[in-house]
Amino acid sequence: MEPFHYQNGQLYCENVPAAELAGRFGTPLFVYSQASILGTLRSLQAAFTAVDPLVCYSVKANSNLGILKIMAQHGSGFDVVSAGELYRVGLAGGEAGKTVFAGVGKTDDEIRAGLEAGVLMFNVESEAELAAVARVAAAVGKVAPIALRVNPDVDPKTHRYISTGKKESKFGMDIERAAKVAEAAVAIDSVRMIGMHMHIGSQITSTEPYAGAVAKGVELIDRLRKMGHPIAWYNMGGGYGINYRGHEARPVEEFARVIVPAVKAAGCRLAIEPGRVIAGNAGILLSRVLYTKQSGEKRFLIQDAAMNDLIRPALYESYHRIWPAVLPPGAAPAPEDSESPVAGTEPWDVVGPVCESGDFLAKDRPLPRLDTGDLLATFSAGAYGMVMASNYNTRPRAAEVLVDGPDARLVRRRETLEDLVRPELEIT
Ligand SMILES: *Cc1c(COP(=O)(O)O)cnc(C)c1O
Repeated sequence: MEPFHYQNGQLYCENVPAAELAGRFGTPLFVYSQASILGTLRSLQAAFTAVDPLVCYSVKANSNLGILKIMAQHGSGFDVVSAGELYRVGLAGGEAGKTVFAGVGKTDDEIRAGLEAGVLMFNVESEAELAAVARVAAAVGKVAPIALRVNPDVDPKTHRYISTGKKESKFGMDIERAAKVAEAAVAIDSVRMIGMHMHIGSQITSTEPYAGAVAKGVELIDRLRKMGHPIAWYNMGGGYGINYRGHEARPVEEFARVIVPAVKAAGCRLAIEPGRVIAGNAGILLSRVLYTKQSGEKRFLIQDAAMNDLIRPALYESYHRIWPAVLPPGAAPAPEDSESPVAGTEPWDVVGPVCESGDFLAKDRPLPRLDTGDLLATFSAGAYGMVMASNYNTRPRAAEVLVDGPDARLVRRRETLEDLVRPELEIT
């Protein structure tokens, strides 16, 4: 059963009607399906099983403690990019020994926090960062396990803001530079290079870029070992794309087919850092229509979720499917394929209350006729949704609910106005 599906004109998350959740918890509301999250975790573990994979869920996609907790309980590791995310993993009962620490700008304090927690490895993104990790490790009397982040110069053919593996990216080092840095690292006693890391971008919907990257990675691992580095891990990063519009994503098994043989040939264990593929389609954003408005030819559906709740359309021009959570009489169920026309619809701009022209969830979107009080579902909102939410316009951030079969539990309460001003009042 699909985690989000229509039954008798009602959208359900697992066994719970979305309208019931909106009534209980209010809107805007993020709703997540536990079965979907754990199902994807299991299919990743299974697809890569031949290379003894460690799935390091990328915390930045959705860092809710309730989600991290169920991931940890089901054997997931974590990929963190800040001391804050590392702190969350600890609170959720995640193991530091299954956690990789990435990010281009780690501070000394963050490196120290990672060493004290005992992370599996640091993904080191530059020569200067290697020096910092070595210095901090020496100062606390530890040896830092590291992997160099290598930029294989492949084009993942995704949005330019989420492409990370090309030469001109701020992330990682090109292969020749990485080899030089690795040569120098041989003499550093306070680091131990146990892995090689790549993350080429996000929302990747073809296996080609991975195939190109992994071939270069295997060659480099051979060179690193010849220098004397005990490379045991091939960390292939994340980036597996999901269906936003229709059926554009590839099943994880297809990615495994190009990655597994190479990692096997390199004699490594595989680490992967999936974020979007786990959380993205496991979540929706529920909102309620406040007003409808027409000016000239333009129709606006003003609803209570805004760019401060889901910034992806404004930031990356990204597409999210949107459909009523309770179908008006005679309306078709949500179209499977967003490209095909649906009878009885008219184009609407779905906008929020924030005072910016960039505050929209969709433009010219064919929708059935809706009115004040109707519920809307914005799909594929589980990843890079709530984590990028802000308090712009002094709007409290939305509540989050995790559904497990017939049960729904609040995993983050709605913020109050007092929550928002507290740091400004408590300054004594
Ligand atoms: C963002 C990020 C990920 C997760 O990417 P997804 O596209 O969500 O799978 C993994 N690794 C690193 C280093 C990242 O920066």
